[in-house]
Amino acid sequence: MKPYSKKLREKVISLYRQGETTTSICAMSLGPHKDTIRLWIKKEGITRTPTVITNAIEKKVEAVYKSGATMSETASQCEISFGSVQKIIHKTGIARSRSGEDAWNWTGGRDMPDYKARKSAAYRDWRNAVLTRDGWACQQCGDVGQNKLHSHHILSFKKYQTERFNEKNGITLCGVCHRKLHTITKSIAS
Ligand SMILES: [Zn+2]
Ligand SMILES: [Zn+2]
Repeated sequence: MKPYSKKLREKVISLYRQGETTTSICAMSLGPHKDTIRLWIKKEGITRTPTVITNAIEKKVEAVYKSGATMSETASQCEISFGSVQKIIHKTGIARSRSGEDAWNWTGGRDMPDYKARKSAAYRDWRNAVLTRDGWACQQCGDVGQNKLHSHHILSFKKYQTERFNEKNGITLCGVCHRKLHTITKSIAS
C-alpha cells in the first residue's frame, strides 16, 4: 500500500467520524484506496455505518425540525449527522433563517444574556454549521484536529448580537490560530 501523509489520514478520519462520508466517497475525493481507508477506520475503532438517507428519514427530519427542534436536536433525535440534517432541510426548503431578528425571535427574545446565548441550542447549531461548512479544518493552517477546533465569530459575539448565529459570521480555527488571532485583535472578545 502507498504511504499517505498523516494529515490526509487525519482528514479522512475526521470527516468519517462526523458521518459526512463513506469510504467510497473518501476514496474518490481524497485519493487513498477504499481498503486503505477501511484499515484506518478500523484502527481508529470507529464502527459507524454510514447513513443512507431514505425517504422515511427525510420525512422524520422534516417533521422533527418543523416542530421547532434545532438542527442539532433533529440530528440526535433522527440519529443522523448534523450535515445530513442540514442537507435535507435546505433541499426541502424548510430551513429557518439564522441571522438577524429571526434568530432572536426563534431563541426566545432579544434580551438573551450572553452566557445564555453561548449555551443555547442555536449556538450549537451555529457552531456545527460553521465546522461542517469548513470541512472540520482550521481555515488558517489546515489542521483537522478533532477536539481543538473552534468556531470564531468574525464580528464580535458581544457587540454584534444580531450576527451571533449567522453562519457567514463564523470561521473554523484551531486553538493555536484562534489564540494568535485574539492576541493580535485583543479588542475582539469572542
Ligand atoms: Zn474567536
Ligand atoms: Zn490553525
